[in-house]
Amino acid sequence: MPKGIWIFVEQADGKVRKISLEILSQGRKIADLTGEPLVAVIAGDGISNLAQEAASYGADQVFLLDSPQLAQYTTGAYTSALAKLIQEKEPQAFLLGHTAVGKDLAPRLAQRLGIGLASDVIDIEVDPEKFLLYKRPVYTGSAYSFVEILSRPSLATVRAKSFPISEPDLARQTEVIEATVNIDPADLKVIVKDVALIVTSRPALTEADFVVSGGRGMKAEENFAILEKLADVVGGAVGASRAAVDSGWIDNQFQVGQTGSIVAPTLYVACGISGAIQHIAGMGASKYIIAINKDPEAPIFNVADYGIVGDLFEVVPLLTEEFQKL
Ligand code: FAD
Repeated sequence: MPKGIWIFVEQADGKVRKISLEILSQGRKIADLTGEPLVAVIAGDGISNLAQEAASYGADQVFLLDSPQLAQYTTGAYTSALAKLIQEKEPQAFLLGHTAVGKDLAPRLAQRLGIGLASDVIDIEVDPEKFLLYKRPVYTGSAYSFVEILSRPSLATVRAKSFPISEPDLARQTEVIEATVNIDPADLKVIVKDVALIVTSRPALTEADFVVSGGRGMKAEENFAILEKLADVVGGAVGASRAAVDSGWIDNQFQVGQTGSIVAPTLYVACGISGAIQHIAGMGASKYIIAINKDPEAPIFNVADYGIVGDLFEVVPLLTEEFQKL
């Protein structure tokens, strides 16, 4: 089989992450356009059951890096195992999600293999001469750059929700290969002994279709309860501006923006958020934006599809009541 378009399939708790299904779906289109096979790489411990899922989203071939040493993500072990596999098989492209893992792993692979990297990509163009052209936002989303990677594999991290997930073909056959896990002992600098999961019934911020975020206008930690209620009514996630995080009202894993998570839900509700450019960089790609702010001049209204000038403490409970009726 030729070298291929490789997708790093991220899994959590034995399930393939949505972002990986998005990249696999797009990868299938790229593979068809370039004539390359689509190859999924799954790393972890006891992950062979995930191969069929990767196949149903378009993978022609699946490499399993199955080892207790890869049970938990660590930079060293994953870099070592993946770099060796890439060096041996020489793929044409290697695409990862722009997730916590992807953002950590891709630069390490680039450094280890001496290749270029396009990070936080939102679109991929197939060019007959330049192979893959990556579109990525720059200057906090004020402009786009188009990046061509001259080295191989063409390495990139892809932002969540950049591509739709295609319909799975559950009958699709694939070739599953148990790859040799070859980890250099010198790379095992960290061993993760335990991971404590925060159990929540809400979807992950970057994967949610509905996000309601609070800013400095929330005024206190306990007031986030009204946003949680709204989020739970519609099965969404709660986010925050940096001002709310810096005030200690909500954990920083919920920060949306340039230095937080980048989200693109179907509906984003910004409550008591002024609309600083660094916040917009993290939510401006949402399909619909509702802004609730008592200041009619707040810049958030420039990006909002629907603006409500008013006190969030009155508006949010009314919105919750209306959503409850649906
Ligand atoms: P403010 O700007 O203070 O706005 C509060 C808003 O609440 C006001 O518009 C006010 O009218 C409204 N309000 C008050 N009370 C009510 C009420 N009762 N009802 C309705 N509205 C009300 N920010 C981020 O969010 N994410 C980032 O990732 C991020 N990264 C940054 C990185 C850098 C390098 C820098 C320099 C800054 C970054 N910031 C980020 C900070 C950013 O510049 C803003 O300071 C921040 O977004 C402001 O948060 P805010 O809108 O909640 O607060």
